[in-house]
Amino acid sequence: MTFLEVSKIFQNLETTSSRNEMSALLVEAIKLLDAIDLQIFSYLVQGRVAPMFVPAEFNLSEKGLLNSLKAVYGEEVLSQRSVSGDLGLVVEKLVTEKTDKLSLQEVYSILWEFVNAQGKGSVELKSALFLSTIKRLSPVEAKYFTRIILGSLRLGCSTRTLLDAFSTYILGGKGFRSELDRAYGSSADVGYIGSLIKGKDAQTSIKSVRPLPGVPIMSRLVERVKNFDELSTRFKGSFLVQPKYDGLRCQIHKISNQHKGVAQRIWYGRKRVESNMDMFNTESQSEIRLFTRNLEDITDMFPEIVMAASKIKEDSFILDSEIVGFNAEAKRFLSYQDTMTRRRKYGVEERKEIVPVNAFIFDIMHLNDRSLLEVATRDRFEALITLSKGFNDGLQLSPCDFLSKTEEVRPIFNKYVDMGLEGIIIKDLDGSYSPGVRNFEWIKVKKSVDSSMIDTVDLVVLGYYYGSGKRSKFGIGAILGGVYNPELERFESVTKVGTGITDVQFGTIKERLDTFKSNECPKGVVVEDILKPDVYTIPKVVITVDADEISINRSGEAVARGLSLRFPRLIEFDRDKNPEDVTTVDELYSMVKGRQ
Ligand code: ATP
Repeated sequence: MTFLEVSKIFQNLETTSSRNEMSALLVEAIKLLDAIDLQIFSYLVQGRVAPMFVPAEFNLSEKGLLNSLKAVYGEEVLSQRSVSGDLGLVVEKLVTEKTDKLSLQEVYSILWEFVNAQGKGSVELKSALFLSTIKRLSPVEAKYFTRIILGSLRLGCSTRTLLDAFSTYILGGKGFRSELDRAYGSSADVGYIGSLIKGKDAQTSIKSVRPLPGVPIMSRLVERVKNFDELSTRFKGSFLVQPKYDGLRCQIHKISNQHKGVAQRIWYGRKRVESNMDMFNTESQSEIRLFTRNLEDITDMFPEIVMAASKIKEDSFILDSEIVGFNAEAKRFLSYQDTMTRRRKYGVEERKEIVPVNAFIFDIMHLNDRSLLEVATRDRFEALITLSKGFNDGLQLSPCDFLSKTEEVRPIFNKYVDMGLEGIIIKDLDGSYSPGVRNFEWIKVKKSVDSSMIDTVDLVVLGYYYGSGKRSKFGIGAILGGVYNPELERFESVTKVGTGITDVQFGTIKERLDTFKSNECPKGVVVEDILKPDVYTIPKVVITVDADEISINRSGEAVARGLSLRFPRLIEFDRDKNPEDVTTVDELYSMVKGRQ
């Protein structure tokens, strides 16, 4: 397929806000694409060249590109940019029609040249590459090319939308969606799944997708209960209780030598070779990778965990864990905020000394070429206990109590809370590890269960208000938060949050939110009239909020079922979560206390 055809598909996707129409357009595109092109298309439509877990960034600033354009096309580009607010539109007007049509794969290779240009001289290299490429493109292609490298494509095409379209392509409706969810959950590379649906015997290939070390599994999620009494209705058989650590969810992968090529996935060979092998003090030919729940590769941020995991003798594995700051001498956990200071790309060695961490391993999903996803929790934990004999500095097995009476849970909960932990996680011993699934086989009970609101909520920021009085000087006085509605695939406003934010924080919050400013209410966002913000933002940033209670206002039912928060307070700004992973409308509804 040519990049021109792809750009026209992007144009059609951009102009529709209807999910069904978007899905129909994608199905038409899928029919025209072959396996490799569909894999590439699936990444590009989300503004990327590789799956989320491959650190492939363009690292280009709009200012830099604007300067390069100014040098060739004159000063006018600056005023054109400030009028249109979008460099893609400016470039569209600058270039002229072309006849030499570049293929999708040719443009894809050029995009990788940007990703791979790093270090000294790369700014000049990328600028020259940008100018020479747009000369080879027609206006509509140049517009989307510019937006891709600037990270501002935003077609509103989520992984869910793509999986829906794959299902419709295969079975004419959503009938194949659960199989696709399972496959994507086991191996979270949407492009690879796309390539399979265009291959021979698509249904069988999708059904046989298994975890592959090096490709993250979607993290299993946790349900909540309203109180301890509810546990007896949720657990009839045996279950295990683990402490709930408050840190960074981390999947630890050991890739055996034979799987280094990660099944010839299209992006692999193009990736800069950045092996961590030198760090290892062992003969092992393996590679360790660490991923967050958000599919971000954080391997380079935690060298001590990488080192410890590389010493485990087994050939390959995938472990689930929580990384928490831990003072081994004092046997004391550090706060979530302290742990999060380790989430940085630079100054890693220095920070490592100040905030030492441990990974508390609580599950295992793969061992030596065998998927353990469908194995019962009791047997997975047994395999984990055996593996833990090889754990060393930096890795610790999460303690675990096996119980069958829910009355016995409270003392364990009290013990962990007294140790400064957040609460407990209870897991049904007969359950499997269902990737990305949230159900009552895994339940969290947090300290907050005893207070008026059983849990904090995670909201996506939809905009902000200028504020009045003292705060007007910051240009921001409160944030608009919203929940997710997965059925309608949209974000719905619930509350204005102005408390719990210091003056200093307001400055950094505004700076961060301004990078996502939108001139109008973004696609896929619904805001109740009385909550309309002064500035809308693209739904990107996730916050954690506590409140006194959740209330329902029947007159506002069309948006978020009329739910709102009373006296909301900001607990955490910019959480490690995708916007689609925030609290859903139905979850918030189920948290309303006293509702029958
Ligand atoms: P959500 O509400 O979507 O579950 P959250 O980040 O608000 O997300 P938490 O209330 O922190 O969730 O509870 C789930 C998280 O608890 C997991 O994602 C994991 O990071 C952490 N966790 C800590 N200890 C465990 C454990 N023993 N088993 C499973 N998860 C654990």
